[in-house]
Amino acid sequence: MPLNIGAATPPPNGEHRPEPYAGRERKRAALLAIFVLSWVGTTLAWALMESRGVSSPTLRAVFAANIVFHPLMFAMVYWRLLPEPVVDLSCLLFATGVCAACMVLRLYFPSYGGRIDLEPLYLWIPVIYVFAFIVAGHKSSLRISLGIMALFLVISLPYLLQSPSSRFANFTVQLHMVSAVLVAALYFFSSYQQRLQAAQLTMDELATLSHTDELTRLPNRRRISQVVGYELTRFERYGRGFALIMLDIDHFKDVNDRFGHPVGDRALKALALRARQALRDGDTLGRWGGEEFVIVLPEAGLDDALRKAHALCAHVARAPLIDDLSITISCGVASVTPADTAESLFHRADAALYAAKQQGRNRAESAAPA
Ligand code: GH3
Ligand code: MG
Ligand code: MG
Repeated sequence: MPLNIGAATPPPNGEHRPEPYAGRERKRAALLAIFVLSWVGTTLAWALMESRGVSSPTLRAVFAANIVFHPLMFAMVYWRLLPEPVVDLSCLLFATGVCAACMVLRLYFPSYGGRIDLEPLYLWIPVIYVFAFIVAGHKSSLRISLGIMALFLVISLPYLLQSPSSRFANFTVQLHMVSAVLVAALYFFSSYQQRLQAAQLTMDELATLSHTDELTRLPNRRRISQVVGYELTRFERYGRGFALIMLDIDHFKDVNDRFGHPVGDRALKALALRARQALRDGDTLGRWGGEEFVIVLPEAGLDDALRKAHALCAHVARAPLIDDLSITISCGVASVTPADTAESLFHRADAALYAAKQQGRNRAESAAPA
């Protein structure tokens, strides 16, 4: 199989995607900022209305509720006193309640606060739908938004039927229409986003599958080639050396012949686990094919790698691998030199492995630098 080596292969563990945790923390920070801004906005608006003498007891109650609600929710989120969905639901209920109260006042108690313009408060109703789509899942946000829309429709319906040509009727009908269009648009965007996320997930799964050996779940030959390509680039650019261990099970054909292929498969899986235990986190162990494995050791010289290979042979041979089946391995070690390509490095490791087999197996040999 030809080596798949690109000049700019990705780092072994380099792809970093934001985790759900990071997303939750961002949402938490956004919520805290919203609470502070809303609190400041409400306080300023209240002060302004009082200074102009256009306030009223009910409006004061609304402002006071806002001024208490926002710090309360801030504390809940900041000290994580309430579960996230409860905070989201409380905010939604609060905003809906305030807007519904304003609508009731304006439509059914027109004499209330004659000098107070309540219509701008209606403008906050669409914001509730946007909030619902931010905090809830795709389907639930649609259900919540439709529920809230139905509530405002029910509140305004008697008024609309009674005085269809009044000024507020026109305004309210337009508000319902804008809300319906907005909810439809939000639903469209959220389904689009969901499909995009699903596609991203599928791509991630495919990428993982294409780099994973099905039996052992180790990096496969393609991935090992990428890692070696990446290490070669690092070596060329920054002089960071690395070494390879090529590892082959001794007389594995006999294991299959004596115990059957399924037992052979179990032995391969167990070997993968045991070999992994003997390595550092930064080392890459992969299945090269059949009963051959490759280990890439970043920042390791020939002597380090040879020591590691000796230790690995002993670690594998020390105890039975599965049931009472013991196996041994042979290792070939090579470290990178400036003249190396991936092919020449693998070739030397392979030659060293051959030498280890020739010299009696259950041992490690290194190849002289090219
Ligand atoms: P040596 O010590 O010289 O390496 O002897 P060997 O018997 O291990 O070498 P050989 O290359 O002759 O045999 C390798 C065996 O590995 C043959 C093949 O059946 C077995 N093998 C390769 N891939 C798998 C696998 O995925 N599962 C199982 N169970 N066996 C496999
Ligand atoms: Mg073998
Ligand atoms: Mg072999």
